Amino acid sequence: MARKINLILLGAPGAGKGTQAEIISEKYSIPAISTGAIIRAAIASGSEMGKKVKEYTDRGDLVPDEVVIEIIKERLSKEDCKGGFILDGFPRTVPQAEALERLGVEITDVISIEVSDEDIMDRMSGRRVCRACGATFHVKYKPSPNGETCRCGEPLTRRADDDPEVVASRLNVYHDQTEPLKKFYDERGKLKIVIGQEKLEDTTRLTAEALEG
Ligand SMILES: [Zn+2]
Repeated sequence: MARKINLILLGAPGAGKGTQAEIISEKYSIPAISTGAIIRAAIASGSEMGKKVKEYTDRGDLVPDEVVIEIIKERLSKEDCKGGFILDGFPRTVPQAEALERLGVEITDVISIEVSDEDIMDRMSGRRVCRACGATFHVKYKPSPNGETCRCGEPLTRRADDDPEVVASRLNVYHDQTEPLKKFYDERGKLKIVIGQEKLEDTTRLTAEALEG
């Protein structure tokens, strides 16, 4: 029987960790738990916890650590996590990782998917979306046949999140607050580094090797 995988995926915004989380989830039949998704689910459920969370998000505030950790703890106690899980987007800071440890959550592997800031800027700032039909393009990697206009004739736009200044600021936060987790988990003998490749299947192969090697 394959060993149990309780995995944390690290990676800057745009490094492709969400995609790898989905692929690993499918391959090992374990849930990929994204903090954003479970916070939205908690709010939608209307539970006491959900109402508490909604107060913060309604004000546009960050949900505080102790609340996020409570939600993660609840999610990890569900039956589908017994055979393993993938955490995507949590922990984000060393204090969160320490809290996870205090809860007694066992982590078997931590994979950091690394892509240079320059490549991330290039990937994200080049993305274009069509507000009319939802099509997505990239000025360099997947250009629209009509330039800055969609196939459907509507002008293409850049999502606010992909604005170079927004991306740069998110990268700074990542380096500042999340990257110290590499040292934290390396000291515990859990860290594996995967260099993100241009082709998705190459990154997928390297990630699989990091998990199985
Ligand atoms: Zn369109």
